[in-house]
Amino acid sequence: MTASFADEEFTSMQMKGVEPVEIKVDVEAAAKRLSRAVQFPTISNQDRSDFDVKAFEGYHQFLVEAYPNVHKTLKREKLGKPRPYSLLYTWEGKDPSLPPVVFMAHQDVVPIAEESRDQWKQEPFSGAIADGYIWGRGVLDDKNQIHAILEAAEMKIKEGFQPNRTIYFVFGHDEEVGGPEGVKHIVDVLEGRGINEIAFVIDESAPLIPGVFPGIKENSALIGIAQKGYMSLQLSVNGEGGHSSQPPEHSNIGILAAAITKLENTQFPYKINRAVRYQYRFMGPELPKEKQPMYEAVAFGNDSKTTELEKKFIDEMAAQQVTRAMLHTTIAVTMFNAGIKDNVLPPSATAVVNFRIAPGDSKEGVIAHVKQAIDDDRVQIKDISASTPPTNIADPYGSGYKMLEKTIRQTWGNDLIVSPFFVIGGSDSKHFQARPFAPNVYTITGIQLESMEEFGGFHGVNERILVDEYGRSIAFFYQLMNNLEELK
Ligand SMILES: [Zn+2]
Repeated sequence: MTASFADEEFTSMQMKGVEPVEIKVDVEAAAKRLSRAVQFPTISNQDRSDFDVKAFEGYHQFLVEAYPNVHKTLKREKLGKPRPYSLLYTWEGKDPSLPPVVFMAHQDVVPIAEESRDQWKQEPFSGAIADGYIWGRGVLDDKNQIHAILEAAEMKIKEGFQPNRTIYFVFGHDEEVGGPEGVKHIVDVLEGRGINEIAFVIDESAPLIPGVFPGIKENSALIGIAQKGYMSLQLSVNGEGGHSSQPPEHSNIGILAAAITKLENTQFPYKINRAVRYQYRFMGPELPKEKQPMYEAVAFGNDSKTTELEKKFIDEMAAQQVTRAMLHTTIAVTMFNAGIKDNVLPPSATAVVNFRIAPGDSKEGVIAHVKQAIDDDRVQIKDISASTPPTNIADPYGSGYKMLEKTIRQTWGNDLIVSPFFVIGGSDSKHFQARPFAPNVYTITGIQLESMEEFGGFHGVNERILVDEYGRSIAFFYQLMNNLEELK
């Protein structure tokens, strides 16, 4: 990592002269296997008692049949606490002294919203292959990634390949609800086995799409280098209920509503964190000329003072909801409950507020902020989530990032912008990246989409991917396994 930007020029960081690599993939056969995978409804519902054991067991059995060489060569463990439906595969490397790497994806999918069912052009769990696409819930988020990894490994094993360093595959079963049972537990297990350094982790994030980042029309491959923390607080007011004919001046609902209004009026201040600086160091030189001085100020700025150009950047980013979230810890009021009858004063009122914690803030700091903003002892505050802190920031100058950029260019060519970026959501890999032994987590969904419209299938309707692009995704992971030798 460069310790200081002082002497650096604001020039393009794009890797030059990478030759594309052609890899032959039997994509028809692979598409059929992904289609079968979609047919197991491995749904994560918000109500965790609604868990389809049969879907996960069937899916696990299908994987064994579909990838015989992987299951002959790699050790497979079913882990998770309390429910053991996450999968940890160990592909023993030739040199046990080298720190291992981790390839991640998740088995679970989000439910289909009933009111949207009739908008699907294919049954969401049919795995239909039609019009050049594979259709269904999970083909983009995130069974595509599980299967691209397994297809690539199956090909490599047939060729007699053994990696130099140990590769783990980690496939969680509850990513869509934060991963408290699956990957969090697997990270504990690996740590418990004495692994004190993981060289490189890859997990899902944004796919390659033209226009994926506001303001960039070109095709881009964004590599996530840091993820926000997560916490949900329950706010509650408990007091006298009673008959609505003789109400107090301020009801429990009124007190809680006032508290929430005060909290929303006390937003966390905007800051430019280190991951955002890295992002604009790489992205900035590829953006329109007239804004370059501003991006340069962000890239080379420091936390001790905010320059005029940085203030301008903050104003621009804060004007849009997606980019605003990059600048601070966000406050989202997601649930509000009280009352059961029109003439009864409820004895309690509760609300849930979800926070995505920016680097530099902490859970304790957020709770202190909330208490101060509300400033009312009648409101009780409780952490009800499997909360996680903001993660470490992966090194965009390191060999892991370079290897990934090279693999992206070998697979998709050089007509695209590759840049690190700050992830305002998070995936299962945050459980690795939040710990000191695995800071270098890079997140990208290794598939090319045609347009932002197609990206709407992600948690939405008509989730689908092009069969040919799925083939390219397999080639990407195959090439990444080759390039692992370059990791330092
Ligand atoms: Zn996902």
